[in-house]
Amino acid sequence: MKGEKMTKEKEKRFSYSRKGEKERICRFCGNRHGVIRKYGLLICRKCFREKAEELGFRKYGD
Ligand SMILES: [Zn+2]
Repeated sequence: MKGEKMTKEKEKRFSYSRKGEKERICRFCGNRHGVIRKYGLLICRKCFREKAEELGFRKYGD
């Protein structure tokens, strides 16, 4: 159902924007979703895919 889907999306967003999470933004595009902090990258999954090779990482298993 449409409404159900929207609620889930809202919950997902909320879980990403709790206290202490606001610094977790991608340093390349500013995206807050799916930001990887591993290895101090601070990069979202989207940019990671684009930059992974440049940064010397292999494709991130997801
Ligand atoms: Zn990004």
